[in-house]
Amino acid sequence: MINLQLIISSPLLVTSVIFFILPLLTWVVLKGQRYRSVSYWCASGLMYGLGFFLMGLRGTVPDWVSFPVAILLIYFAALGRVQSLLYILRKPLSYSFMLLSALLFIALFEGIRLGLEDGELRILFSLSINMVFCAILGVLAWRIARLYRFSNAYLLVFVQLVLVIIISSNIIKLMSGLISPEDIMANIISLKAGAIGAIAAVIANFAFIGMSLDSVISREAKLEINKFDAINKSQLVIAQLDRQRSLGAMAASLGHELNQPLTAIMTFTQMAKQGVNKGLLDAIQLNAILDEVMSNTRRANLIIEKVRGFIRPEALKKSCVPMDQLVKDAAQFIRQDAMSRNVELVFSQDKGSLIVLGDETQLSQVLLNIYRNALEAMAGQKTGKIYTAVQHVKPWIVIAVSDNGPGFSETVLENIGEPFFTTKPDGLGLGVSISKSIIEQHHGKLLMSNAKDGGALFEILLPDVDCDQCKKSDTDACPKI
Ligand code: ADP
Repeated sequence: MINLQLIISSPLLVTSVIFFILPLLTWVVLKGQRYRSVSYWCASGLMYGLGFFLMGLRGTVPDWVSFPVAILLIYFAALGRVQSLLYILRKPLSYSFMLLSALLFIALFEGIRLGLEDGELRILFSLSINMVFCAILGVLAWRIARLYRFSNAYLLVFVQLVLVIIISSNIIKLMSGLISPEDIMANIISLKAGAIGAIAAVIANFAFIGMSLDSVISREAKLEINKFDAINKSQLVIAQLDRQRSLGAMAASLGHELNQPLTAIMTFTQMAKQGVNKGLLDAIQLNAILDEVMSNTRRANLIIEKVRGFIRPEALKKSCVPMDQLVKDAAQFIRQDAMSRNVELVFSQDKGSLIVLGDETQLSQVLLNIYRNALEAMAGQKTGKIYTAVQHVKPWIVIAVSDNGPGFSETVLENIGEPFFTTKPDGLGLGVSISKSIIEQHHGKLLMSNAKDGGALFEILLPDVDCDQCKKSDTDACPKI
C-alpha cells in the first residue's frame, strides 16, 4: 500500500511533480521546433520525475523499485539531458555507449548497495555521479553559449555551477565526517533540498526553452544568409554570362592579338630549324632565337590569361586600378571589331593620378558593355566614332564615353538601366543594369544622357581616393567595396 501521507509530505515527491510538469510545458512551448534535442530534454524530464517519484516512495514500495529502477531512471534522465545538449552541438552519443555506461553504473551501484552493504559509499557514489553529470551539462552549455552565442545557455551554465557547488560541498562534508550519511539522506529529502531542486529545474528548463528559441532564430538567420548568398552568387553568374556575351565583340581583336605572337613563334621556330639543318647557326644565335620564341609564348599566354580572368566567375577583388590603363586594355579588346565597322576610337586623359579602388575585371566589364552598345548602336552607319575621356573632376574620377550614333530616345532614357530593358530583337537588357550595379557597388554613379552633338553619353563616376592609403588602412574616407 502506498503511504499517501508520505507522498504529500515528501519534498522529493513535490520535486517529481514539478519534473513531470516542466517537460510537458517545454513540449507545448516548443511546438513547431521539436528537434531531437527538445525530445531528449523533455523525455529526460519525465524520467527524472518518475525516478524521484519512485525514490520518494522508498519504504512503501519494494526496494528493487525504489533503488535500482529509480536510480537507473535518474541516470538515464541525466544522460538524456547530456544527449540533448550534444544534439545542439551536433555530436550525439551512440546508443550502445549510453546503454553500456548505464549497465556499468547500475552494476556498481547495486554492488555497493547489496554486495558491500555500505550506505555511506553508496551515497558518496551517487553524489559523485550526479556532480559529474552537472559538470558535464555545465561544460556543454558553456560550449553552446560560446559557439552559437546563445545567451540563454549561460543561464544553464549558472544553474549547473550552483548544483556542482552544492553537491561537492556535501561530498566534502561527508568525506570529512562533518555530516553522517543519514544527515545527507535527510538533507536530500528535506524541504530545502526540494526547493533548491525545484528552482534549479525551473530555471534550467526556461534556459533550455530560451536556447531552443535562440537556435530557431539562428537557423532562420542562417537561411536568410544562405538566401542572400544565393542572390549574390546568381548575380555573379549573370555578370559572368554578360561578360561571355561581350566575348563576341572581343573575338576578332583576340584573334588579331594572338595572331602576332603565334606568327612570330612560327617564324622563329622555322628559322631555328633551317639554321640547325644547314649548320648555319652557332649556339649564341640559336639561344637568341629561342629567347624570342619564349618571349612570344609568354605574350600569347598573357593574352589568354587575361581573357580567362575576364570570363571566369569570381568574387570581388579589390586593387588600385589605373583608369587610363583600364580604358586602353578594354579598347584593345574591341579594336578589331571597331575597325571592321569603320569605327574610330578616340582617347583623351587628364594628367596626374587617375587611380581608383576597385575590381579590375568588373570595371573593364562596364567599359566593354558601353563599347559593345556603342558599336551596336552605330551598326547602321557607314562610319562612327567612340570618344573616351578620363578626367579628374573632384571628388570623382570620371570616364566619359560618347559615340556619334543615334543617341537615346526619351523612352530609352526613362527605362535604361532597368533589368531586361532592351530595344534590340536579340538583346538581353542586362548590360546597363549590371554596369550600374557594379559602379554603385564601387560607391560611384553611372549616368546616361545624350551628348551635346547627338549620340549617347555614358559617364562613369568613381570616388577619387588615396588608393594606397585605403589598401593599408580602411578609413571612413575609403569606399567599402
Ligand atoms: P542589350 O544590349 O541587351 O539591349 P543593355 O542593358 O546593354 O542591353 O542596353 C539596354 C538598351 O539601352 C539597349 O537595348 C539600347 O536601346 C540602349 N542603349 C545602350 N547603349 C546605347 C547607345 N550607345 N546608343 C543608343 N542606345 C543605347
